[in-house]
Amino acid sequence: MTGDFLQDDIFDVIVIGAAVAGSRTAGIIAESGRSVLLIEENTNVGHPCKCTGLVSWRIKELLPTMPEKLFVNTVQEARFYSPKGRGLLLKSKKPVYVIDRPGLDKYLFDLAQEAGVQTKINEKFVSYEMKEDHVEVKTDRDTYRGKIIIGADGANSPVGKQAGLKYPETYLVGVQTTAKGKFDKVELWFGSEVSPKFFAWVVPENENVARIGLATDRNASKYYEKFLSDRVGDFVKPDVGGIIRFGLMDRTSDDRLMVVGDAACQVKPYSGGGIVMGLISSKVCAEAALKSLKHKEFGRKFLVDNYDKKWKAKIGGGIKRGLALNKILNSSDRSLDMMMSAGRIGSKLLGKMDMDLINYFA
Ligand SMILES: Cc1cc2nc3c(=O)[nH]c(=O)nc-3n(C[C@H](O)[C@H](O)[C@H](O)COP(=O)(O)OP(=O)(O)OC[C@H]3O[C@@H](n4cnc5c(N)ncnc54)[C@H](O)[C@@H]3O)c2cc1C
Repeated sequence: MTGDFLQDDIFDVIVIGAAVAGSRTAGIIAESGRSVLLIEENTNVGHPCKCTGLVSWRIKELLPTMPEKLFVNTVQEARFYSPKGRGLLLKSKKPVYVIDRPGLDKYLFDLAQEAGVQTKINEKFVSYEMKEDHVEVKTDRDTYRGKIIIGADGANSPVGKQAGLKYPETYLVGVQTTAKGKFDKVELWFGSEVSPKFFAWVVPENENVARIGLATDRNASKYYEKFLSDRVGDFVKPDVGGIIRFGLMDRTSDDRLMVVGDAACQVKPYSGGGIVMGLISSKVCAEAALKSLKHKEFGRKFLVDNYDKKWKAKIGGGIKRGLALNKILNSSDRSLDMMMSAGRIGSKLLGKMDMDLINYFA
């Protein structure tokens, strides 16, 4: 015996990483009666948190039973600041939520367990080996066997890397803390002196507390220290940090293998947000795994047809639009200043934009 598992057991699916994408994918597969093992290297699911937790209204469509207590704030106004400090006020027609992100991870993990997913926490995936009729998965504690392996192991995906999947080379480092001050709406600050190649953000939990962070491709702590002391007058050590990698990957499947969520760069390139895209793709990934098990078809082509092509049909356009928007937003301080002078017409048009870019307008 290995814990609850017989050495001879072959799981239908082994999922690596128990955050949003991993727990959601594992849960959906188990709901159909398939055996799933979910492996997470951290001891405390949801921690350390590396997310601001700002999500569109789609979260309620994707997770209709998500408990109300996980919704911390609703924000429908955002002010964009250009390098010269010109502000463009955007009012979103649909609600945007600030959520309890560690709470969301824990909620999805609990749901997966209730659906029958077997879990191993505080156990790190090390490598896998393809055998004739299964995948052998090695962790720092044990070896397991599964018919399919799914990497939901984040932007640095060890599963995706071992599979040789081609990742976009550029990435950003994001840092954030929760600080006290006076806040009334979301703020996004752009410019090469604020946060090169991305932006800094202020996301209020309420009038007196906000999640304040930035992402950049260089020296994040230095820019962060300056931004925080300019905005709230006090430097607080970042308590959230993580990597944001984006781009449309050529392939996210291999024989008996798929990657999902940040591990598949299912992230909005203009904002780094990956919760909604990850949840949409988790469902597609779970459905592809179920189809693969049903038809006993585990080859790369089958998974590309049933996973890659399907998730790209849903969010690939959004990723492409996000890449274009990212380019515009990071072109030059001068053009940003011009854009933000667009005034009321610009605000009205942008306010109708689909925050997830899945459609042009929400
Ligand atoms: C600073 C910052 C702010 C952000 N803000 C937002 C936001 O406001 N809204 C939004 O939508 N998105 C935001 N994002 C992006 C969002 O956090 C990610 O898109 C989301 O977390 C992706 O979920 P995931 O499940 O794919 O991967 P992750 O959340 O990265 O989870 C991967 C899991 O895999 C586990 N793992 C990794 N390697 C191993 C291993 N070898 N063995 C076992 N387990 C392993 C990890 O411990 C982790 O639990 C932000 C990101 C950053 C960095």
